[in-house]
Amino acid sequence: MQIQTQPVAVLRKRRRALVAQLPPLRSVLRGSLIERYKRCGKPGCKCADGPGHGPKYYLSVSFPGLRPKMDYVPQEAFKQVSELLANYQRTREILEQISEINRELLRRREAL
Ligand SMILES: [Zn+2]
Repeated sequence: MQIQTQPVAVLRKRRRALVAQLPPLRSVLRGSLIERYKRCGKPGCKCADGPGHGPKYYLSVSFPGLRPKMDYVPQEAFKQVSELLANYQRTREILEQISEINRELLRRREAL
């Protein structure tokens, strides 16, 4: 949507729709899933010839100026963690779009 060419009423309607699309805000998680395979080192284990046991998943979360923090994600939590990560991304996109609409309303001296 080209914000600059839209009537104010359309922008307000779009903003309402965006708010309604927000994921449940308790169900967000920042970070990304990392896939790892590991060789166990046991003599004769078949993993010695392949990539190793896995995949095992870790949640990697970055912080400014620090190394990323890694947490193991149990298989049974994988699906839910994936959903929470997607919710976080979606929330960020929606907030950005709402923010752009509000910036445009400000620019036009319209009520925020
Ligand atoms: Zn092994």
